Amino acid sequence: MRLTDITARIAKAAKDADRDPADITLIAVSKVQPNERVESVLREGHRSFGENRVQEAAGKWPDFRETYEGIDLHLIGPLQSNKARQAFELFDAIHTLDRPKLATTFARLAQETGQCPPLFIQVNTGEEPQKAGIAPADTDAFIKECRDLDLPVQGLMCIPPVDETPSLHFALLRKLADRNGLSQLSMGMSDDFEQAVAFGATHIRVGSALFGERVPPSGA
Ligand SMILES: *Cc1c(COP(=O)(O)O)cnc(C)c1O
Repeated sequence: MRLTDITARIAKAAKDADRDPADITLIAVSKVQPNERVESVLREGHRSFGENRVQEAAGKWPDFRETYEGIDLHLIGPLQSNKARQAFELFDAIHTLDRPKLATTFARLAQETGQCPPLFIQVNTGEEPQKAGIAPADTDAFIKECRDLDLPVQGLMCIPPVDETPSLHFALLRKLADRNGLSQLSMGMSDDFEQAVAFGATHIRVGSALFGERVPPSGA
């Protein structure tokens, strides 16, 4: 699907929800996509992108930044503490603050470097054991902990379980954000971004609907 088709669908979903489409950022998830697909979206003028691996992002985005101005790059995948410094250098926002140890690492780096990208706390809304994120019941306390560390927490992020109705998870994330005074919600992917917009998403993360199916790296 083309970029203009996706933005039209976002505009329609926003209108149906009485929202301003300008309040919704489309993060084009470019992980594992061939560079020519990414460049064609860059040439159309799009600037917000998402990657889920530090290493992969380091391999392509510094070059793209030299050619295209105003790139806004979001980390949407799990981050190991030992890659946090590199993530601070590469990304304009991090959506996967998912554990206390990472919060203390970020706080230390923020002290040291004098800056910290805007952060989203990942909430494991489905309480899935294999999935990263803070349990819903622990979220209020974790937000407070991050605020006590002076971290710039802007919002919450979730990835609903594949076999459940996403709206229930979007509604829960919104409730947790609202009661903690957080205005940003990173939720909604290719199959459910319109529902996410209806529930207040400010950042939707769309990969395959925009770029086509992900091409696995050769040899995989
Ligand atoms: C890959 C990924 C997406 C995009 O998924 P699509 O279904 O291809 O839109 C969104 N969010 C996260 C966290 C991802 O890892």
